[in-house]
Amino acid sequence: MMTLLFLAVLAVAGMACAYFKTAVPVWSAVIGATLLVFSIAGEPSVWLLALSWIAFALVAVPLNYLPLRQQLITGPILDTFKTMVPQITDTEQVALDAGTVGFEGELFTGRPRWSRFIKKPLHELTTEEQAFIDGPVEDLCDMVDEWEVSHYRAGLSENAWEHLKSHGFFGMIIPKQYGGLGFSAVAHRAVLEKVSSISSTVGSVVAVPNSLGPAELLLHYGTEDQKNHYLPRLADGREIPCFGLTSTTAGSDATSISDYGVVCKGQWEGKEVLGIRLSFEKRYITLAPVATVVGLAFRLYDPEGHLGEEEDIGITLALLPRDLPGMDIGRRHFPLNNPFPNGPIRGKDLFVPLDFLLGGEKYIGQGWRMLVESLSVGRAISLPSSSTGGAKMAALATGAYARIRKQFNLPIGRFEGVEEGLARIAGHTYAMSALSRQTASAVDDGEKPAVPGAIAKYHATEMSREVIKDAMDIHGGKGIILGPKNYLGRGWEGAPIWITVEGANILTRSLMIFGQGAIRCHPYVLKELQALQIEDEDERLDRFDRLLISHVGHSISCAVRSFVLGLSFARFAVVPGDRRTRKYYRKLTRYSSAFALLADVAMLTYGGKLKQKEKISGRLADVLSQLYICSAMLRRFEHEARPAADQPILAWAFHDAIYKIQHAMRGVIDNYPISWARPLLRFIIFPLGRQERAPNDRLGHKVAALMLSPSDTRTRLTRGIYTSDRAGHPVGVMERLLPDVIAAEPLERKLLKAQRAGEITTYTFEDQMAEAVENQVITQAEADLLRQLRVRVLDVISVDDFDLEDIQGGLSQTADAAREAGRESGDQAKADKKAA
Ligand SMILES: Cc1cc2nc3c(=O)[nH]c(=O)nc-3n(C[C@H](O)[C@H](O)[C@H](O)COP(=O)(O)OP(=O)(O)OC[C@H]3O[C@@H](n4cnc5c(N)ncnc54)[C@H](O)[C@@H]3O)c2cc1C
Repeated sequence: MMTLLFLAVLAVAGMACAYFKTAVPVWSAVIGATLLVFSIAGEPSVWLLALSWIAFALVAVPLNYLPLRQQLITGPILDTFKTMVPQITDTEQVALDAGTVGFEGELFTGRPRWSRFIKKPLHELTTEEQAFIDGPVEDLCDMVDEWEVSHYRAGLSENAWEHLKSHGFFGMIIPKQYGGLGFSAVAHRAVLEKVSSISSTVGSVVAVPNSLGPAELLLHYGTEDQKNHYLPRLADGREIPCFGLTSTTAGSDATSISDYGVVCKGQWEGKEVLGIRLSFEKRYITLAPVATVVGLAFRLYDPEGHLGEEEDIGITLALLPRDLPGMDIGRRHFPLNNPFPNGPIRGKDLFVPLDFLLGGEKYIGQGWRMLVESLSVGRAISLPSSSTGGAKMAALATGAYARIRKQFNLPIGRFEGVEEGLARIAGHTYAMSALSRQTASAVDDGEKPAVPGAIAKYHATEMSREVIKDAMDIHGGKGIILGPKNYLGRGWEGAPIWITVEGANILTRSLMIFGQGAIRCHPYVLKELQALQIEDEDERLDRFDRLLISHVGHSISCAVRSFVLGLSFARFAVVPGDRRTRKYYRKLTRYSSAFALLADVAMLTYGGKLKQKEKISGRLADVLSQLYICSAMLRRFEHEARPAADQPILAWAFHDAIYKIQHAMRGVIDNYPISWARPLLRFIIFPLGRQERAPNDRLGHKVAALMLSPSDTRTRLTRGIYTSDRAGHPVGVMERLLPDVIAAEPLERKLLKAQRAGEITTYTFEDQMAEAVENQVITQAEADLLRQLRVRVLDVISVDDFDLEDIQGGLSQTADAAREAGRESGDQAKADKKAA
C-alpha cells in the first residue's frame, strides 16, 4: 500500500512539474523533497528508496551540473543534431526570413494565451473607407452585369474600367502621398469581398494590382525615381500592372525559371548603354493582355563581368513598358469561363537599360527574396477576401432560394437532406469570414503573416469550393442553366482557379503551412537551427544546451498536458469565455498541447525527411489550420459581443473543425512509422478514445433554419456583400421577395388544407384562387396578394433560354469568317481533287 502511495506521489509530483513546465532545478527540488519525506518516514522499503535515490541522482546531477550536462547529454546531441537537421535550401531560408510570427506561434507552445488574443480588438473601417464601400464600390456593383461580363464581352465594359480608374480602385495599397487611397488591410479586404460577391472577373481585376505586383514591390524596393514615376500612374489607372513569374517549365517551382537576361552593352534611344538582353516566355499572367507595365522575374547572367565577378547573379526583377519593341503581349488564356484578362507574355532578345531593374542595381539578384518578402501580405488578403465574398453571396442566395423554391408543397430548405447542405454553407461561411478578417487585421497590426496567410489562402479557397458545391446542389437546375438569371454558375466554374493560383493548394498545405510553420513558429526549432550557425564552439554549445533543455521540457510538458487535459476534458485549464464558449477554449487548449507534442514527435522522428513526408506534414497542417480557424471564430464571436443567436453557427463550425482536428491527428498517429509508439501516442493524446463528434443533426437543423429567413444572424453572416435590387441583380431581387414569401406561407397553408378538405377542387392557379375566394377560404385581397407573389416567385425560380446565336456569343466574326473561309477552301480542294 505504502509502495503504491509512494509511486503515486512521485508520479503526481513529476507530472505537476511537467504540466506547469517548471525549470530543471525546481523539478529536482520537488522530486528530491518527495524522496526525502518518504525516506524520513522510513517508508516504503529501503530497497525501493535506495533505487529511487540512485535513479534520481543519475538524472538530476547531470541535468543540474552544466559542465556534466554538456559533456554527457547536450554535446553529443548537438553532434547528432547537426547531421539530422533538415537541409534548408536558399529558397527556404528566404521564405523563413520573410514574415512575422503572430498568434499561430502560441498554438505551437501548447498553451495559448487566450485572454491576450481575444481582447485585442479587430480593426474596423474608418469613416472614409466605409464611405468608399458605400459609394464607389456600391456604384461599381450596380453597373456590373456578370452575364454581360462573362459571356458577351469576355471582360469589363469601358464604363466599369473608367469607374475603377477614376475612383482609385487600383491604388488601394498605394499611400496617399503618391495619389493612392492608402487603405488599411481591412478596407482592402472589404472592397474585394463586396466586389467579388458580384463578379469574380471584376474581383480579379481589382485584386491583382493591389496584391503582389509592381506597386507592392515598388513601395518596398523601388528607387525614388521609380516610385515617383510609377506610383501616381498606377494609383489613377494610367498604368495597368501585371507581374510575370510563372513560365512554361517553372510553375510551383518558381525559382527554376528559365527566362533569362544577359548583361551587355546595347543601343537605347540612340546611345550605347549598359543593359540587359532579355528572353522570356511567361504564361498564366493575370492582367497581361491589358497591362501597360510588366513586372518580370528572370535569372540574370553577367558572363562578361560588367557588374562584378559573379556570372550567375540570380533572380532579378524588372519593370518593362508594354510597348517595348519585341514584346509579344496581348493574347489571352481563357481560365474556366472566367474571362478576367490573363495571358502569356513572350520576348526574345529584348534590350533594356539597367534603369529598368526594379530597385536599380542595388537589388540585382535579390528577386526571390523581394517576392517572398512581399508575398505574405497579398496572400493574406486577396484570395481569402474574394473567396469569402463569393461564399457569402452563395450563402445568402441559397438560404433565400431554399425558402422560396417549393417542392412537395414545402420549401426545399425544410427537407433534411437540403438542411445538411445549408448548415455546411453557413458553418463554412462563418469560418472563412472570421479567418479572412483575422489575417487582414494581423496585417493592420503590422504583421507579415506568412503562415496565417497560407492557412487563409488554402482554407478560404477550399471552403469556398465546398460552399459553391453545396449551393449548386441545393439550387438543382436553377444553378446549372447559365444566363443573366444564374448567380452561381461562374462561381462554380471558377472555384478551381483560386485553388491553383498564388501557390497551388496541395503544395501550400504540404510545404507551406506546416513546413514553414514548424520551423518559423515553433518556440525552439528555429532558434536551435540558428544556434548551429554560431562559429564559436563554446558559445554554440552553451546556446544549444539551454535551448535543448527548454525544448525537451516543452515536449514533456506537452505530453503530460495533453494526457491530463484529455483525461479531464481540460476542466482545469484556465480559459476565458462564457458559459457557452468556455468549453471551446478548453478543447482548443487541449488540442494545442497535443498538436505541439505531435509536431515535436514528427520532427524528431523524420528530421530532415519530414519535408518529403507530405502526407504527415499535410495532416499536421490541417491541425494547425483548424486550431487557427477556431481561434479566429472565437475572436470574431467575442468581437461581435457574443450574439446568442449566432451560437448555433459558431457551434456547428467549431465542432466541424474539432472533428477534423481529431481525424487529422489520428491520421498522423495511425501512420506513425514506429509501431510500438502508436498505442502510446493514442493513449497520451486520446486517453478516453475519440470523443469528438461531427456537428449533430439537431444542431444542423437549427443552423439551416437560420439561413431560411431574414434575421440579424443571417445579416451578420453575409454582411459586406452587395445585396441591392436596384440594378435588377437576381440575388437582390430574391432577397426583397423573401419576407413576402414568408408572410404568405400561412395563406398557402390555408389553401392546402382547403384543398385536402375538398373545398378547392379546380386545377389551375387562377381557378383555385377564384374558388378559394368563393368558398371564403381566403379574401379577395389575399388572393390578389398571392397572385402578385406568384408572378415574382416565377420570375425568381425561372431560368434563361436562348436562340442558338446567343450562346454562340463566344465566336467572333473573325473566327466565323476564318471558319467559313476554311470550309470554302476545303470544298474547293475537294472539287479540285475530283476534277483532277
Ligand atoms: C488563372 C491563373 C492566373 C495566374 N496568374 C499569375 C500571375 O499573374 N503571375 C504569375 O507569375 N503566375 C500566375 N499564375 C501561376 C500560379 O500562381 C501558380 O503558381 C501556377 O499555376 C502553378 O504552376 P502550375 O499550374 O504549372 O502547376 P504545377 O507546378 O505543375 O503543379 C501541379 C500540381 O502539383 C502540385 N505540386 C507541385 N509541387 C509540389 C510539391 N513539392 N509538393 C506537393 N505538391 C506539389 C501543385 O500543388 C499542383 O497541384 C496564375 C495561374 C493561373 C491558373
